[in-house]
Amino acid sequence: MIIINNIACFDIGGTFIKYGIINENGQILYKDKFSTPEVNCKDNIPAELVKKINVLKEKYVISSVGISTAGQVDHKKGEVIFAVNFSDYSGAKLSETIYEHTKLKCFVENDVNAAALGEMWMGAAKGKDTFLCITIGTGIGGAIVIDSKVYRGIGGNAGEVGHMTINKFGEKCSCGLNGCYDKYASTSALVRNYMDSLNNSGKTIKNINLIDGKEVISRANNGDNLAVEAYEDFLNDLTIGLVNLTHIFDPGLIVLGGGISGQGKPFIDEINKRFKLKVMKAYRSYTKIILAELQNDAGLLGACYLAK
Ligand SMILES: [Zn+2]
Repeated sequence: MIIINNIACFDIGGTFIKYGIINENGQILYKDKFSTPEVNCKDNIPAELVKKINVLKEKYVISSVGISTAGQVDHKKGEVIFAVNFSDYSGAKLSETIYEHTKLKCFVENDVNAAALGEMWMGAAKGKDTFLCITIGTGIGGAIVIDSKVYRGIGGNAGEVGHMTINKFGEKCSCGLNGCYDKYASTSALVRNYMDSLNNSGKTIKNINLIDGKEVISRANNGDNLAVEAYEDFLNDLTIGLVNLTHIFDPGLIVLGGGISGQGKPFIDEINKRFKLKVMKAYRSYTKIILAELQNDAGLLGACYLAK
């Protein structure tokens, strides 16, 4: 009899923790989510995961645990080094606590790296072993995959593409530098630029709280001049970063994930068009920029890939 192993997988975000049972063939057997603890995440998150694993154990034979989490991760120790958007999460000993209470081996990866592995295993980068995965949402994340492995760098911090400088006279970033990619090509940057020009134009803004990246793009597509300008800047700045990364890594493939992947074909066609005009000739014929495919399941599938 062939035994197919089941893996308990978690995808820890600032608002929700998604979890499930995925077998080593990538079939999702069970999936649910719960709210991220609001206080003392360092202790409460590992404790919640142990509880969920114990409940899942009653129904499934589990061979190991895979975790994707927001924040910087020490993947060897399975610990969280630092994370924004959580209350007191730094230093959470995920692997150690889970092993101590469940005797299951546990593998931890940062969310962008996990999403990239998920896309390589079951999604947009299936069949590719070298590519970049760039997530565009409220911030910009990057994962570098070379020969089917995440490239981490010497200190484990590779892939901070959101903090490459694209305008040395640009806006101050939370990292302390000026003009980071994050400040120009994230969806928050798109929204902020649009809002700034609305404010400067003296127009009254209806439903101001409802304006997100999707809304700005939809207004641009409907001919709102200020939205068109903001979207143009966003597309150009986003492309500059992709061109820089291509000149450095020559990855052949860049997968764009995060909130922006919901924009579909018109968006990705536009990016490819602009990219081809800017990138050096040598890369033009074979470098493709595509959208991520797994959406909400990328982190869970990446966590499973890691642990299987
Ligand atoms: Zn920065």
